[in-house]
Amino acid sequence: MNIILLGPPGAGKGTQAVRLAQDLVLPHIATGDLLRKNVKQGTQLGKEAKDYMDKGLLVPDELVAEMLRHRMSDSDVKKGFILDGYPRNLNQAKTLDVLLKDLNLEIDSVVYLDSSESVILQRLTGRLVCSGCGSNFHIKNMPPKKTGICDHCGGKLYQRTDDKEETVKKRLEVYKQETASLIKYYESKQKLRRLSADEDAQIVLKKIIQLAKEFDDSLKV
Ligand SMILES: [Zn+2]
Repeated sequence: MNIILLGPPGAGKGTQAVRLAQDLVLPHIATGDLLRKNVKQGTQLGKEAKDYMDKGLLVPDELVAEMLRHRMSDSDVKKGFILDGYPRNLNQAKTLDVLLKDLNLEIDSVVYLDSSESVILQRLTGRLVCSGCGSNFHIKNMPPKKTGICDHCGGKLYQRTDDKEETVKKRLEVYKQETASLIKYYESKQKLRRLSADEDAQIVLKKIIQLAKEFDDSLKV
């Protein structure tokens, strides 16, 4: 089962990817983690990436794709994977197709976590982060025991500038523009499965698993 998870900021994609991977016992491949790991381990690709990061530049697509190629060659990927954070645009999707073809792999299903703007705004603008340990809280959904104070370490909670309403709206706009052609691409290949992600994370997870399993069954028929 080779799955790509897509979704706008605030749809809970990262959390769902981790849980889905645990539930289906598949490797969770997040390009952000992959990049950090390569840098930390000082691999050749990691060193090249670090040069860009040290200069405050974006790591080029080709480098990230190479890291992905290495990861996708690992034996644990043979039984399937959950890809998270990649591709972000049509170009990357085409790069991924070439890369997978070389490895004799194919994407089975692209799950798009669809969230309404009001839910995303409510989720993201209410988010609080601990300045001490980085724990996440939410004004409504997961409030700290003491207002403004972290339950775990007593650190001060703050709102990321990224999570201010105007910024969230802008991030959503950028996301929509970047992914419109990507979504059409997977739609045309009949791989896109849309799923409403407005409900509780637990319910959304169940729906993704059901969808993935239905798809897996249809392959076996
Ligand atoms: Zn804390």
